Amino acid sequence: MSPRREILRTDAHSDARVEPGGTTGPAGSDRGDPSGPPEPTLAGGGGSARRDVDPDVLDQEQVLEVGIRPRHLAEFVGQAAVREHLEIVLEAARRRGQPVDHLLFAGPPGLGKTTLAGIVAAEMGAGLRVTSGPALGRGGDVAALLTELQPGDVLFIDEIHRLNRAVEEILYPAMEDFQIDIVIGKGPTARSVRLELPPFTLVGATTRTGLVTGPLRDRFGFVEALELYALDELELIVRRTARLFGVECDDAGAAEIARRSRGTPRLAIRLLRRVRDFVEVRGSGAITLESAVEGCRVFGIDELGLDRLDRRLLDVLCVRFAGRPIGLTTLAVSVGEEPETVEDVYEPYLLQAGLVMRTPRGRMPGPAAWAHLGIEEPGGADAPTWMPGATDTLWS
Ligand code: ADP
Repeated sequence: MSPRREILRTDAHSDARVEPGGTTGPAGSDRGDPSGPPEPTLAGGGGSARRDVDPDVLDQEQVLEVGIRPRHLAEFVGQAAVREHLEIVLEAARRRGQPVDHLLFAGPPGLGKTTLAGIVAAEMGAGLRVTSGPALGRGGDVAALLTELQPGDVLFIDEIHRLNRAVEEILYPAMEDFQIDIVIGKGPTARSVRLELPPFTLVGATTRTGLVTGPLRDRFGFVEALELYALDELELIVRRTARLFGVECDDAGAAEIARRSRGTPRLAIRLLRRVRDFVEVRGSGAITLESAVEGCRVFGIDELGLDRLDRRLLDVLCVRFAGRPIGLTTLAVSVGEEPETVEDVYEPYLLQAGLVMRTPRGRMPGPAAWAHLGIEEPGGADAPTWMPGATDTLWS
């Protein structure tokens, strides 16, 4: 696929923008497609670092997300420290009349990295160009993209840790001096031409800060890690999105959906869509505690927000390996997933919830896993042991 087709241009004043009052423009209105993307369960992935069934589903979901993405910093819920830092950085850039410094956002999928890139563009009144590390396969791809930027544009590169070395090397002088050197021709007649670029802001997103090379990371003026969201923040997101969808949702219903969303806004919104489908087809049309519980049950989401694949991961750890430490690859193969997907998509919440532990000897079930599966932790001499404090952090 040519890189050109990967690039979406979203004007800061497009029809799809969400007004602060909570109305959506026509292009982004979720009500235009009440069924939402085909999502039989919240699992899937297939090697992608997102909980999506395939790339088409991802595309559809991104289109549906256009109308519900916050467009301004004031609408962005949670991540107080990131918001405060961004407010200062954006205001300083506005006062100087310069583009914002390059920004890098890190954190698990669905926490708002793309949304923040859109907010930076909208707040600066600039254009937004969206691409991703894997889509920029050759140096020429990124050179073509950079030379088409308008002054002040925001260039968003998702999965920036997956850029190859040649592309990264073109980005260094582009980020630092707003210029690139391109080689024209081959062999003895080859010559290098320097091109000036308009000042722009690069916003990078990664699920793995550790995989972003040092030289690239050093060229970002601002690096922030997004955290999983607290329950009250997710509740606000559910209530706000329900308003945009035009579906009635009481506080208890919103709290229940938030509780099952694994700290992730994207999952909260996806679950809200499914529960909305459920109440429209089988219920009264309004989301309450009872209908949220029942809707989640029908779609296989349990009271901790775990889906079938999460439960299989716990099952492998607790039952098949009886609590003994196992490597990430063994765990991933046992559930038919890529190690990267297990690590980036499934584990952050399981670790935070105490359901899985990373120890120097491998992955083990956390204390909460046994209780959640309703099975007794093996005791006696064979009992698995772990050292308190020996678990890795989320971002190791
Ligand atoms: P990421 O780029 O980190 O995978 P996105 O920016 O695509 O995540 O966010 C996923 C969805 O969650 C979007 O529909 C967005 O509207 C919503 N969302 C994410 N963070 C927030 C937030 N802080 N407040 C409101 N909605 C949010």
